[in-house]
Amino acid sequence: MVSADKRAFVIAIDGPAASGKGTLAKRLAAHFGMPHLDTGMLYRGVARVMLDDGRSLEDVDAAADVAESLDLAEIAEARLRGKEMGEAASVVAAYPKVRKALIDLQRRFAFQPSGAVLDGRDIGTVIAPGAEVKIFVTASPEVRAKRRFDELAKTDGSVTLDAVLADIRKRDERDSGRMSAPLRAAEDAHLLDTSALDIEAAFRAALAVVESCRSN
Ligand code: C5P
Repeated sequence: MVSADKRAFVIAIDGPAASGKGTLAKRLAAHFGMPHLDTGMLYRGVARVMLDDGRSLEDVDAAADVAESLDLAEIAEARLRGKEMGEAASVVAAYPKVRKALIDLQRRFAFQPSGAVLDGRDIGTVIAPGAEVKIFVTASPEVRAKRRFDELAKTDGSVTLDAVLADIRKRDERDSGRMSAPLRAAEDAHLLDTSALDIEAAFRAALAVVESCRSN
């Protein structure tokens, strides 16, 4: 297994669903000219292969095999972004064998010489606990649900705010309550609550955190 203490400039962005961590990670990566990995796409990719192959999401060994041979080229696909795949991803993401199978791939990405920005649930706690910058992005469930609802409502007239809020709460519960690498802030993470911030203000706050870590 790739060791977690390789030296490279790593920015670890963690947080719950719809907290804005993905947008922030992407913007930080573009700003600093660093590669970015949305690690949720790995779990979504595993879930997609399982569903496409007609496997049950309960089949832990099959999910671990899929994770073992997952290729980064397989995850650049719009269909992975949907709500159903997010749900399915959080099922397979709870299996320790699946998480273990995806560690090396994530660490190799994190520790490339250029450094990297990774966002997910366990980047600062498991994948790169020595990351120079750790930001845990949060927002209240209501604010996250409203953001997600506004996005979904553009293409789906039948979606309701209550249903989106219920989904967000369910996913939070599954991600925080699991035994293996539960969603939580690393002790040395900077907390960034975006409940009252728009994207621009959240980006400026995240940038200030990165700059302060870089000058230390
Ligand atoms: O971030 P995103 O919503 O795409 O993640 C989908 C699911 O994948 C999450 O709900 C979580 O269960 C899982 N995940 C994880 N660890 C990560 C990234 C995502 O467990 N580093």
